[in-house]
Amino acid sequence: MFVTRFAPSPTGFLHRGHAFSALTAYDAARRAGGRFILRIEDIDRTRCRPEYEAAVHEDLAWLGLEWETPVRRQSEHMEDYARALRDLAERGLTYRCFRTRREVAEAIESAPHGALEAYLGAPLPADEEARRVKAGQAFAWRLSLEAARRALGGFDSLTFVEDGAGPDGEHGLIQARPELGGDVVLARKDLGVAYHLAVVADDARQGITHVIRGHDLFEATHVQRLLQALLGLPVPTYRHHRLLTGPDGKRFAKRDRAETLRDLREHGMTAARIREELGFG
Ligand code: GLU
Repeated sequence: MFVTRFAPSPTGFLHRGHAFSALTAYDAARRAGGRFILRIEDIDRTRCRPEYEAAVHEDLAWLGLEWETPVRRQSEHMEDYARALRDLAERGLTYRCFRTRREVAEAIESAPHGALEAYLGAPLPADEEARRVKAGQAFAWRLSLEAARRALGGFDSLTFVEDGAGPDGEHGLIQARPELGGDVVLARKDLGVAYHLAVVADDARQGITHVIRGHDLFEATHVQRLLQALLGLPVPTYRHHRLLTGPDGKRFAKRDRAETLRDLREHGMTAARIREELGFG
């Protein structure tokens, strides 16, 4: 059974780009006689707001979408992500990172010959780490690429199927290159979890067979594929779609207030017209 999802973060009102993404996934599910799931990715409680979340439901219903209930809200499942993190940590695949954002940026910049595009770190010596933990210093959990490589005997066996296209037209069987992301953060200092881990855990738990999303997230697939391997999770098919651009050629973003679905609606736009404009008439 084909199962796909639309997984917005309620950090702003939905715009045309979201409508395109949601309709793409919804349409694919309908054509395949499959299931369409809405998932609210609200782990970042500092940026998510209830009114944005309510608007997601309102705007998608206005567009004519229907989805299964209850809707999974990530903020209600932090224990699931903590469990996955513990699993990785107990196998020595993670380490505590006490560095600030700036220190991480500096470490990348100061690597010889620009050797690092993404951050690679290492655990602190045990006594130093214990001292900092005891002193209550905040830390993030990072995935150790080196430990992951050792655990899997290399990354050669990590592939995924791209059924749509990445930003450079990537299509078909893709070799995952988790090194592009470096030692990614699995649990943020402030939140106890981070995007990649939550998404991978939820895609598996919800039985997602097709991840349909914008190609701005194509790169994220490399590390998400690695996490699936480390956690023994099934690998969905990926279908990245193009990003919608406005008349100025720039992609829609949450900061462009004028183009939110609710503004368009208030100015007389109908759902039928926007569906047609986006190619789902
Ligand atoms: N929550 C993510 C976003 O709003 C999407 C995650 C995904 O589709 O994998 O960009």
